[in-house]
Amino acid sequence: MLIFKRASDIRKYLQKQASNGIAIGFVPTMGALHPGHISLVTKARAETNCVVCSIFVNPTQFNDPEDYQKYPVAIEQDIYLLEKAGCDILFLPSVAEMYSDGAGDLPHYEIGYLETVLEGAYRPGHFQGVCQVVHRLLDIVIPRKLFMGQKDYQQCMVIRKLLALTGSNTELIISETLREPDGLAMSSRNMRLNEDERKLATGIFEALSFINVHIQPGDLSALLSKAREILLEKGLQPDYIVVADAGNLQVIDTWNGATPIVALAAAYMGKIRLIDNLILRLNFA
Ligand code: AMP
Repeated sequence: MLIFKRASDIRKYLQKQASNGIAIGFVPTMGALHPGHISLVTKARAETNCVVCSIFVNPTQFNDPEDYQKYPVAIEQDIYLLEKAGCDILFLPSVAEMYSDGAGDLPHYEIGYLETVLEGAYRPGHFQGVCQVVHRLLDIVIPRKLFMGQKDYQQCMVIRKLLALTGSNTELIISETLREPDGLAMSSRNMRLNEDERKLATGIFEALSFINVHIQPGDLSALLSKAREILLEKGLQPDYIVVADAGNLQVIDTWNGATPIVALAAAYMGKIRLIDNLILRLNFA
């Protein structure tokens, strides 16, 4: 695996690959890699000829300074896992490399409604930061396909919008969420949970699964109250647990039984904020 730290070097290298007809697959990450990240690399391996992964803990997308400072870093282990998974190129830029003009004059993206709900509402500025870094990375890598996880459902929708706003030809491939055996969605932040918190954190998946099993057309308020109780019983402090239109993320309180929907939750276990979602079945009894 080749490792690049400078944008100009990797850009030059990848432009040569692309001019030889090689399809570049790109997996952007913040490192502290787990099997969920690796599943994206494996998918990229299967669908493209040159797999590029980036590891960059992007300061502009953190609304909580402590979350940024304590974000886990495990670069040696990450390199080992990426090589084992057959990743061709790792891009490992510094903050100065990514934001050479400083953080003062960053572009603003017209994300619209998506920025006002759920993660957008609870993490002001987060999706602007995500767009800033992904736009920069896409300009450097110019991938044919971009691989992202459904785990960050709203982020995938924001990136789809970014691709449209910037007129990009890159195709977004959304990959399913990898889970621990007890259902907890794999996440780099899980490393920061202590043993007891780790056991209780599974409540977020239980609450979403409860919605998936029990949803019926009509008013959803009783179902959502019960799901919220499941979170609270496990000591999870919810920011939100909602059902939304899977296509546009409009939060709904009544379901017509036909619109594809997704249940999304964000909750704190101690100081660690966890998110998860499930696309809900439509074949209800
Ligand atoms: P992150 O390092 O958290 O920014 O994640 C990098 C990419 O990996 C994003 O596209 C995430 O959606 C994806 N990802 C994170 N966790 C999982 C998971 N458990 N399963 C599949 N993909 C994931």
